[in-house]
Amino acid sequence: MKFIDEAKIYIRAGHGGRGCVSFRREKFVPRGGPDGGDGGKGGDVVVRTSASARTLLDLKYRQHHFARHGEHGKGSNRTGADSPDVIVVVPVGTVVKDAGTGEIIADLTSVDQEVIAARGGRGGQGNAKFATATRQAPRFAQPGEPGEEKTLLLELKLLADVGIPDGEERLSAYPHQLSGGLLQRVMIASALASGPTLLLADEPTTALDVTTQAEVMRILAHLRRERDLAMLFITHNLELAAATCDRTAVMYAGCLVEVQQSETLHERPLHPYTSGLLCARPSIDHAARRLFVIPGRPVAAFDAGPGCAFAPRCGYAQDRCRSEKPHNMQIGDARVACHRAEELQGSLASGTAAVA
Ligand code: SF4
Repeated sequence: MKFIDEAKIYIRAGHGGRGCVSFRREKFVPRGGPDGGDGGKGGDVVVRTSASARTLLDLKYRQHHFARHGEHGKGSNRTGADSPDVIVVVPVGTVVKDAGTGEIIADLTSVDQEVIAARGGRGGQGNAKFATATRQAPRFAQPGEPGEEKTLLLELKLLADVGIPDGEERLSAYPHQLSGGLLQRVMIASALASGPTLLLADEPTTALDVTTQAEVMRILAHLRRERDLAMLFITHNLELAAATCDRTAVMYAGCLVEVQQSETLHERPLHPYTSGLLCARPSIDHAARRLFVIPGRPVAAFDAGPGCAFAPRCGYAQDRCRSEKPHNMQIGDARVACHRAEELQGSLASGTAAVA
């Protein structure tokens, strides 16, 4: 699908229906008086976001949107029907501007958000409304108000939102012409195009240098705030998880072994594997020493055996650990899968331990 992030469209709302000039004519009712009804309202042109729209491509090729005029008033005090609105569907993140004045009409940032871009005219009043004691047979009625018309400039600010400069030019670039950081931003932009409430960020900073990594994380934090998004951030970098996430979940051999508030997890880990990961972080304070490593090799999820999958590498393993799989238990607001979690609570190292 071609990605188009800018479109110009011409919209015109419907005119209001004309008021009716009519007089009641009925047998045995002399001088029935005026009974002309009011005209109906013209349809509005509404711009609305939809989760299913991802680009402005449709609008690039369908540039005119006209709402119908309101129905004229009728005799016997019948009001003309209002016309239905015309809906222009755009993706979340579209900025609606008046192309003539450059004024921003709306910044549509959530699903099903809408703005009336052009108002339909009100219907004119029928002659029944103009009857007075001294003018009992008015032979005139009001015309309907004209509907608004304007040219709109629609800009999908996804590319700008994720910090891609010269969006128009980048759109025609091949992937190999973009740097790793720009490719990552394009992926984030396409993930945002459907207006999600949950963003799955699966290792978004892997293979990026630290400067680009910081930039991508800044963009993600900005998007979270701006769009009120929840984010599931998957990473091998515990420091990044601590800086980004409210809660951290640690997995080993395909299972969650510990879930708790990020800050608490870094200070007081409850699972020996989490403790091992924290101790294995490099630190400038221990630059001259060898890094701590968790002994042994990771096991595949399908090869874990009947007991705790971490048992072959765990310094706290007991017989029970090798024969019985630990289930998740609640400790405070944390969840941990370890037979000895309560016993080891508070005694597991969390700092950058080093061995000589
Ligand atoms: S259940 Fe046993 S082997 Fe597994 S992490 Fe806890 S102490 Fe270690």
